[in-house]
Amino acid sequence: MAWHILGAGSLGGLWAARLARAGLPVRLILRDRSRLTSYQRLGGLTLVEDQHASLYPIPAQTTADATPIHRLLLACKAYDAEEAIASLAPRLAAGAELILLQNGLGSQDAVATRLPRARCILASSTEGAYRDGDFRVIFAGQGFTWLGCPTQPAAPLWLADLHASGIPHQWTDDILARLWRKLALNCAINPLTVLHNCRNGGLAAYPQEVAALCNELSELLERCAHPAAAAQLRDEVERVIQATANNYSSMYQDVAQGRRTEIAYLLDYACHAAQHQALELPHLQRLQQRLRAYLAERGLPTQ
Ligand code: NAP
Repeated sequence: MAWHILGAGSLGGLWAARLARAGLPVRLILRDRSRLTSYQRLGGLTLVEDQHASLYPIPAQTTADATPIHRLLLACKAYDAEEAIASLAPRLAAGAELILLQNGLGSQDAVATRLPRARCILASSTEGAYRDGDFRVIFAGQGFTWLGCPTQPAAPLWLADLHASGIPHQWTDDILARLWRKLALNCAINPLTVLHNCRNGGLAAYPQEVAALCNELSELLERCAHPAAAAQLRDEVERVIQATANNYSSMYQDVAQGRRTEIAYLLDYACHAAQHQALELPHLQRLQQRLRAYLAERGLPTQ
């Protein structure tokens, strides 16, 4: 069965190249004819690993293609997910499976609500990749991908494809706890790196600000019924700040390059959840206001 991959960007490209080189059938889905023409002109997708570039001539199509889709890796940004899936909905076969690679929370529910008959599998990945040109992906950081499905917890057989492709992964019964934990880590680190204009390691200079956010995020996770995701959050945040001291957070990079951020699926989602639980989290709310103001000043979308 073919792997359809929507979004031949950083993570989509990284998955596509590894699946294709393992001999598995992969089809890239590009947004329109002009993107398809650009892709065909380049002769395929390039993946750069350890400074070694390889070209993968993976077949590509547009969303308008008519072939049915049984398995789809949705690899666009969270803010594009709902619209992208709407354009593909007519092509999804009965019982189709979707793997949602989006960071944060909120986009997965929006997609699942639109497709009540599809099986939505959620993913949380720490792999790192970026694009340094059109259809050219740099594999920047080894990582790991957790996968799980809150409504149908049995592991799918196609995990063997990921194994064969060397994609480090594990199936989990509690993917929501993994996604909440990552959301909390992102909320404690990423907005502050933007506001203080620093690498992750620069946050070592603001221990009280980080600690206050960690306390509030732990409270939120517990109230949202994810106590495991709340455990030792502050310790892990401090470890991540140290271990990734030289890195720029994804939100920092988005802002630095004038790109839209995924704030709506990270900080905004956390603030909405707090409001829903009638929880007062003043540091988190203040962080949201400061970040929105910072983005607005730079002409970037504030949600
Ligand atoms: P990205 O490099 O910007 O790639 C997104 C791709 O989606 C682009 O190629 C874009 O097409 C495509 N796309 C958007 N809407 C589309 C549509 N309607 N039809 C077809 N293609 C469409 O993003 P990314 O970095 O891979 O991130 C994807 C998700 O993974 C995000 O939620 C991110 O937070 C998460 N994530 C990323 C990393 C990482 O290291 N990159 C790590 C962990 C998690 P165009 O090229 O035409 O714009």
